[in-house]
Amino acid sequence: MKFDLHVHSFYSDGVKSVFELAAAAKEKGLSGFALTDHDTIDGWQDIPAASAEYDMIIVPGVEFSTKSEGHTVHILGYCMTDIEPLSEKLADLAMKRRKRIEKMTEKISALGYDITFDEVLAEAGRGTVGRPHIAAVLAEKGCVRSRQAAFDKLLERGKPGYVPRDPYPSVEAVALILRCGGVPVLAHPGLDEAFLQIDNLVDAGLKGIEAYHSAHTVKTAAKFAAEAAEKGLFITAGSDYHGFGEVHGQLGSVTLDENTPLPPFLEKYLKGA
Ligand code: AMP
Ligand code: FE
Ligand code: FE
Ligand code: ZN
Repeated sequence: MKFDLHVHSFYSDGVKSVFELAAAAKEKGLSGFALTDHDTIDGWQDIPAASAEYDMIIVPGVEFSTKSEGHTVHILGYCMTDIEPLSEKLADLAMKRRKRIEKMTEKISALGYDITFDEVLAEAGRGTVGRPHIAAVLAEKGCVRSRQAAFDKLLERGKPGYVPRDPYPSVEAVALILRCGGVPVLAHPGLDEAFLQIDNLVDAGLKGIEAYHSAHTVKTAAKFAAEAAEKGLFITAGSDYHGFGEVHGQLGSVTLDENTPLPPFLEKYLKGA
């Protein structure tokens, strides 16, 4: 059974609806995928209908943007059942995201680029607004060559349009996921040296590591898989599909090989599904 456990929809900064993702996953021959939008679970509402329509297993998840000792750390949470504390936190994060992106848009506009916050919000549509939406507006209006160029020139940390995020401590996200009955997993540990935080996260209750990710080389993935085994963590695999962008993989392009056991939370979800 093949699963892609890291996928974004238009409820955050992905391009496709949950239904379109299910259709595409079917076409790629996946057994299922996890919906892991940034800081939102709004897409969960479409899971029952999309999974029935396409006979596709869709695991409810989320991807929190957090900080630990100055590193950007993304924490995936799967199968939370107690939604109330989660929803409260997500509402707070949505407000902070909006303020940050508004500030970034103002900075970029002051640099002489023809862009307004209303345009960025329109681009985000129903999605949690983020830097990719600024990139999309700039590219669509011809202010930059491509979305990637917008990141390279303006949006990456250290570039003139950047505004840091009000940090959400990684260990708090891990604790919240556990409190909600979910399973916390470290996303793409190879990005921004997030792997340096593994021990802190394990102390907080981390259960797994996304050893296989589109941004990892074969060598780094093997290293993370070995580290997970050493620390008693399970491993997952995910493409981080968004539907655009060079830093992300194609849907279904990263899955566990047939000899690797599925993560326990997935086994459990399959039994209940
Ligand atoms: P935000 O949540 O607003 O900080 O935006 C983060 C998102 O921007 C990531 O999830 C990626 O989708 C995208 N992103 C971050 N860095 C880059 C980059 N260097 N090139 C392209 N996309 C990026
Ligand atoms: Fe993203
Ligand atoms: Fe991420
Ligand atoms: Zn992601």
